[in-house]
Amino acid sequence: MKEPLKVDGAVTIVGASLAGLRCAESLRHEGFHGSITLVGDEIHAPYDRPPLSKQILTGAWPTEKAFLTDDLKLEELGVTARLGVRAESLDVDAHRVTLYDGSVLDADAVVIATGASLRHLPGTESMTGVFGLRTLDDATALRGAFDDLEPESRVVLIGAGFIGQEVATAALGRGHKVTILESLEVPLSLIVGEPVAELLMNLSANSGAELRTSVRVTGIDGPRDGAKAGWVNVEGADPVPADLIVVGIGVVPATGWLESSGLTIENGVVTDEHLFAAPGIVAAGDVARFRWLGAGHDEQVRIEHWQMAVDHGVHAAKALLGGPHNSPVFDAVPYFWSDQWGKKIQLLGHPSAEDTVEVIEIPDGEGRFVALFHEGSFLTAALGVSRPRRLMAFRALLARGATIDDALALGV
Ligand code: FAD
Ligand code: NAP
Repeated sequence: MKEPLKVDGAVTIVGASLAGLRCAESLRHEGFHGSITLVGDEIHAPYDRPPLSKQILTGAWPTEKAFLTDDLKLEELGVTARLGVRAESLDVDAHRVTLYDGSVLDADAVVIATGASLRHLPGTESMTGVFGLRTLDDATALRGAFDDLEPESRVVLIGAGFIGQEVATAALGRGHKVTILESLEVPLSLIVGEPVAELLMNLSANSGAELRTSVRVTGIDGPRDGAKAGWVNVEGADPVPADLIVVGIGVVPATGWLESSGLTIENGVVTDEHLFAAPGIVAAGDVARFRWLGAGHDEQVRIEHWQMAVDHGVHAAKALLGGPHNSPVFDAVPYFWSDQWGKKIQLLGHPSAEDTVEVIEIPDGEGRFVALFHEGSFLTAALGVSRPRRLMAFRALLARGATIDDALALGV
């Protein structure tokens, strides 16, 4: 399909989560009145993942509050939901998706929105007391395990990325002793660069959690000598006893079902600047490695954050309806937030390790600051710690390719 999708055509969306749902909603919003089939391998209606490591884990929210929609709303949207069944393969030329139950879905266009799945520590997947956190079912299991723990139990987090630090915050709040084992010297340094990552590392300094960096975990031995979950083996140091272990060592894009499709898969589904992976086939969200032309960049990136999945979902619908020659390029400013150690960290833009950084501290003794990243005079990103409203003011500057002087003039 090199032509635009007709408004009475048929679309199959694979991946019934944030990007997939937002794409379905956007198709309707743009006037598409054809058929939409939403395929998801989880049994649940689309739900939101950010609360899973925050409100759901702490017990502040019941699980129902995480849902983005329900059966009735999907019906009202005119979406046929095929939940609890995996897509097995994609025939790119025929726009045909084959499901594991043998059914075949033919459409005029296909949206790939299968997200990402957990990277596992080899040999630990089915160990009792060892948890990962990606899905609602993972969160329910982990919350149940927290509920069963006695106060001051030893909770060990493997990885001090987003999962590690958010779950550590929840575990501390539940009164446990927390140890985080991280292979990088400075957590999050690959995302925000070392100088700013070091400042972020300070946020956990007085929390009571023990953060051990430059520590690579090699595996886990089962429970003994009072360690209820097991002993975490680390390279060159003594094993660490744990009553509950959470592995947060990253994710891999969920592209297994596309192996025989002929699409270019390189750390995600490679797309052009409109999100097209092939004629009539777009990719959106965590699974997409897209050509990003925003804020003066021209690079192939994959960004695993909530706002990107929303922006992609909306854009993918417009790209299909506009067609490859008549749709806008994808140039949204990337954004994420993370709640850690009682602070809200927010990043707008896409910093690189070579950027220069200006850090402006808020002199209130609360550890709040804003960091402005620039390449030469060109503003590339803005990061804020507990400065939510001020930070969002930089979005417009980043979108229009402003300078560091413009940003400094705006103030923090
Ligand atoms: P996903 O949400 O991963 O959904 C993909 C769906 O496709 C899944 O349901 C999957 O099971 C399904 N699927 C996969 N393969 C197949 C197949 N072959 N057939 C059918 N279905 C399939 N981002 C932030 O910016 N801020 C936050 O605070 C934040 N917190 C987070 C907390 C947690 C615990 C997690 C896990 C993520 C968090 N994120 C956060 C990241 C954000 O949630 C993701 O970027 C977002 O969910 C990506 O949406 P997606 O639709 O692309 O993919
Ligand atoms: P992540 O952010 O990639 O962090 C994983 C960390 O674990 C990395 O620092 C990694 O270091 C380290 N690590 C890897 N192997 C290790 C080992 N054997 N021993 C010790 N440390 C090891 O991944 P994540 O925290 O698991 O998050 C998963 C996904 O959820 C991501 O897509 C993330 O964006 C999303 N998420 C986002 C938020 C948010 O935005 N607020 C919150 C929760 C989850 P190396 O780089 O050296 O491998």
